[in-house]
Amino acid sequence: MTDSASRAGLATDDGIGARIASARARIASACARAGRSPDEVTLVAVSKTVPAARLREAVAAGQRIFGESRIQEAGPKISEISETESVPLVWHLIGHLQSNKARRAVEMFDMIESVDSLALAERLDRIAGEMGRRLPVLLEVNLGGEGSKSGFAPEEALPAIERVGRLEHLDLRGLMSVPPYLEEAEETRPFFRRLREMRDEARRSGVAGEGFVELSIGMSHDFEIAIEEGATLVRIGTALFGQRPV
Ligand SMILES: *Cc1c(COP(=O)(O)O)cnc(C)c1O
Repeated sequence: MTDSASRAGLATDDGIGARIASARARIASACARAGRSPDEVTLVAVSKTVPAARLREAVAAGQRIFGESRIQEAGPKISEISETESVPLVWHLIGHLQSNKARRAVEMFDMIESVDSLALAERLDRIAGEMGRRLPVLLEVNLGGEGSKSGFAPEEALPAIERVGRLEHLDLRGLMSVPPYLEEAEETRPFFRRLREMRDEARRSGVAGEGFVELSIGMSHDFEIAIEEGATLVRIGTALFGQRPV
């Protein structure tokens, strides 16, 4: 890597393009093991804390869908990048959304994966209605019951799916979860399976509609297991952009 590349904050070692290619290859192998088509799994590149210059490298490598956690960080980055990129990019919000930032979120994001309360869902519905749009959302489930994480408790999920599914300006597409971090990724499998069963149960019982298909599970260290358990969206940050600053 040259000094000028270093000054520009470009990727060290492999480069983002190579890491994206490698992640896609791993997604394809996991799909093959699970007897699924790679088209069933969408890679959401988690770009929180990643500067716009590096995000552009990912765009140059063909990545189009990005996940961001915080409105304050994502706002300026999304505007900056949309001004110069000619290809349309898709932005998913994956972090907790405070209700006073809901309007900004509806303006900026194509999907909100982290709807974690009925109050938030109702607020988003009202705002989306005012803006004349129907907003794609996922409900976040706190599978591990961890106090540090947001999301519906597993036993609240089904009634929440039913309520949110009736909101006219939200398009409820499925479930999202961040299970407890376990060193041994294989141990996360039962959490992923439980979320899939919740989705299937919601569909089977008629609580959710035809469009309720998405399972957003799997991060850098466990996405292959998530795919084996039915993930349709994998949210990968570190494996693409490197370690985040702590
Ligand atoms: C940061 C984050 C990710 C990405 O995690 P990595 O381990 O870096 O792949 C995925 N999902 C959510 C909700 C996150 O906040």
